[in-house]
Amino acid sequence: MTKEEKLKQVCSQFTFKGIFDEAEPYGDGHINDTFKVTYVDDDKKPTQYILQRVNHLVFKNTVGLMENIEHVTSYLSSRITKEQQAEGYEILTLIKTKGDKSYFQDDEGNFWRAYVFVKHATGHTFAEDANMLYEAGKAFGQFQHLLSEYPAESLIETIEGFHNTIWRFKNLKHAVHEDPLLRADQCREEIQFALSREEIASTLVRGLESGAIPLRVTHNDTKINNVLLDDTTGKGRCVIDLDTVMPGSALYDYGDAIRSCGSTIAEDGENLEDLKVNFEKYEAYTKGFLEAMGRNLTPQEMKWLPLAAIIMTLECGVRFLTDYLEGDNYFKIHKENHNLIRARNQFKFVDEMEKQLDVMTEIINKYWR
Ligand code: ATP
Ligand code: MG
Ligand code: MG
Repeated sequence: MTKEEKLKQVCSQFTFKGIFDEAEPYGDGHINDTFKVTYVDDDKKPTQYILQRVNHLVFKNTVGLMENIEHVTSYLSSRITKEQQAEGYEILTLIKTKGDKSYFQDDEGNFWRAYVFVKHATGHTFAEDANMLYEAGKAFGQFQHLLSEYPAESLIETIEGFHNTIWRFKNLKHAVHEDPLLRADQCREEIQFALSREEIASTLVRGLESGAIPLRVTHNDTKINNVLLDDTTGKGRCVIDLDTVMPGSALYDYGDAIRSCGSTIAEDGENLEDLKVNFEKYEAYTKGFLEAMGRNLTPQEMKWLPLAAIIMTLECGVRFLTDYLEGDNYFKIHKENHNLIRARNQFKFVDEMEKQLDVMTEIINKYWR
């Protein structure tokens, strides 16, 4: 069977309307295989769908993951307001199979799912201007706002311990101790940088444990290309990529978004003298997020927002460093020492944010309501 025939066969399992026309690879996702599928009606009028083969090597409990998405998207659809819809905001919508399920499992064990295609909208890999970040922050804020009363504990963890910083540090120490490739000597300074912050890095995990901050439904992949922005108006249209939706803290989502968009250089940039907090972008994302979600956040969550940006960046750096020490098994590398370069970059960003904590706090206070 050719690839095309296989896709056509998979498509025939879903309740797509009309006749299969074509299926082509789509978007720049790194985890799943994504296709744009076109069906046509009798008048040859096309309707597009998104078809995805879920990466079951990353997501071991695919059935649980699909249940998470099913529950969360139907809840969101029941909560979205008329005003939000009028503004063009929409909820990612699953298309059921002919057997009324949210996924189809083929004979090779692959899981397939389908979504309504969000038209005239794009997930941008890079935020050229601050307004894109304002819109992304607003869309993710709205997402959390709509889910603020959802019983988060009823969702499964699609990746166990994803933001368990305590466990991430344990893994780093283990990698340093084992040092299988004798790389630890090349990065003593970085190891020291991380370990000296181990205590503070556990703040959010401990805060959840003690009840100081609430357990919430979190998206956990709040980079800008997971919000589709309208091609004409630039407004946030739809939050996508719900694979990592699970119980967590609102601070994970805010912190990780700032980590991914708030620096002046790319995540693997090596010119660290140029790495600063990009305050224009920081403020734009923060403004959008707090306009939509601010009134739902507790005073403790508010207080820890800047710290969350630092902790999520530190955690990411720890993961890069651990992977470097272990031999680059998890993050794909494209040049020598790539994971060490990434870790250094994250740690420099941590250092900058630590120095700018007062300014970050001031910006947050500006939008606190
Ligand atoms: P990532 O690397 O961010 O984890 P992924 O492999 O999980 O990505 P998605 O983000 O779900 O994949 O989708 C890949 C791309 O497909 C998106 O960046 C977006 O461009 C496009 N896309 C996904 N869902 C839709 C949709 N419902 N409508 C239109 N485009 C979509
Ligand atoms: Mg994505
Ligand atoms: Mg994804």
